[in-house]
Amino acid sequence: MAYEQFANRLADIVGKANVLASEEDRKVYSYDGTSTWTHKPDLVVFPTETEHVEAVLKLANENRIPVTPRGGGTNVSGGSVPIRGGIVLVMTKMNKILSVDAANLSARVQAGVVLMDLQTALAKERLFFPPDPQSFLGATLGGIIAENAGGPVCLKYGVTKQYVLGLKAVLPTGRIVEFGGSTVKNVVGYDLVSLVTGSEGTLAVVTEAVLRLLPLPPARKTIIALFDDLPKSGETVGKILDAGTIPAKIELLDNWVVRSINRITGMGLPEDAAAMLMFECDGTEDVVEHDSRNVIRVCEEVGATQVLVADDPAKAQAYWKARSAGFAAVFGAAPTVLAEDVTVPRTRMAEFIQRVTAICKKADLEVTVIGHAGDGNLHPSVMTDAKDPAHFQKAQRAVDEIIEAAVEFGGVLSGEHGIGLEKQKFMRRTQDPIFIDLMRNIKDIFDPNGILNPGKIWEDRSG
Ligand SMILES: Cc1cc2nc3c(=O)[nH]c(=O)nc-3n(C[C@H](O)[C@H](O)[C@H](O)COP(=O)(O)OP(=O)(O)OC[C@H]3O[C@@H](n4cnc5c(N)ncnc54)[C@H](O)[C@@H]3O)c2cc1C
Repeated sequence: MAYEQFANRLADIVGKANVLASEEDRKVYSYDGTSTWTHKPDLVVFPTETEHVEAVLKLANENRIPVTPRGGGTNVSGGSVPIRGGIVLVMTKMNKILSVDAANLSARVQAGVVLMDLQTALAKERLFFPPDPQSFLGATLGGIIAENAGGPVCLKYGVTKQYVLGLKAVLPTGRIVEFGGSTVKNVVGYDLVSLVTGSEGTLAVVTEAVLRLLPLPPARKTIIALFDDLPKSGETVGKILDAGTIPAKIELLDNWVVRSINRITGMGLPEDAAAMLMFECDGTEDVVEHDSRNVIRVCEEVGATQVLVADDPAKAQAYWKARSAGFAAVFGAAPTVLAEDVTVPRTRMAEFIQRVTAICKKADLEVTVIGHAGDGNLHPSVMTDAKDPAHFQKAQRAVDEIIEAAVEFGGVLSGEHGIGLEKQKFMRRTQDPIFIDLMRNIKDIFDPNGILNPGKIWEDRSG
């Protein structure tokens, strides 16, 4: 079927205003949060109800048209780039919080709800959804579920899959299914909720989710510790956890990021520090007091040059805003930033950072490290320029070495950003072929014609 005819059929399903086909619109939906991946879709479609998704997928499946689901387009692995063209299915108009059930600590939401909007609504009821990817201003629950996203508080609270109780989704063949339920305990058959969570939009399009919530902690405290060398900061993280204290967040920022924060916010943090750790302790007042005392004591014992405590919520908020500014600074620091996402055992974090620094020094590349130190999840970011082929290739080679080093250190290819397009080339090199074959077989069951987000996670059979 010609795309023009196909567009008319889609307009019959979702309404004319919800199908975009102009060159400019197709360009807008051709990329995501990665620096290097882009491909224009043929059509952009906005469903507003599950039945629209059902009808669109049925039609696409019959005509073997690729469909790439998309939320806020903030992922950093190429997940929502429509690499085979076809339809980009944008879920942002399905953005209703359908219900909040405080007594059962759960909420039912449509997939296009933006995380920040959900947290704002939940805070009014003294509740929260713990996973906190730092893209919360634009990321949708559908995208967060598809990426099994994490974030700073995952040290204490875990990642998205621990907070998805049930899913309403549409299979690529155009069949609506419901997995899981609304209770925390549920061992009825295979755990398909967990399978779809983290499947990067390759198995089903999520249209609604039942989320597990927690009561908002009544108290929290932010502590900042500065270190004159990176290994000491790594050692501190291990000793705090070993002392039986699990802060909600332990974030690591290197000297480059600290200087950027000062430049952007004028906070005046000491710039001679090699590394800064940011902690947040939360819970009841006495738990927060106890945990904060432990954190401060260990930081001082290990040899922090300075320990700062945010004594009021406004100051704490300023510190965490600064942390976000640091992340933004990384992305804006060069024409192209190869922002990585690896996880290593936390006991080997300092050693890994030293390896990253050595790799980049040898190649004469600027690199900065920011990360969720509590769970060994680090984001080394290499500065380059895709328009300068020699420099860019050098940077890509360094990134390859960094990823291989993470695996060598007993870590994983991706801690929270997913494989998408970005890390496919490492899958064969680092994973058991049986694991890849099992995934392919599962994909074939869900998507016999391979129309849903094709070309992602593993290299194609042809590749
Ligand atoms: C500044 C910044 C900070 C970040 N910080 C973190 C962080 O701290 N922790 C972390 O884990 N991640 C982080 N991320 C990445 C994070 O994975 C994404 O921001 C988020 O998960 C994607 O949500 P989205 O709605 O933008 O989805 P998109 O980017 O649109 O899509 C992501 C994937 O989900 C699929 N998808 C989208 N919606 C659906 C749906 N309804 N059904 C099925 N599949 C769907 C897409 O096909 C794609 O594969 C960050 C990203 C940025 C840019």
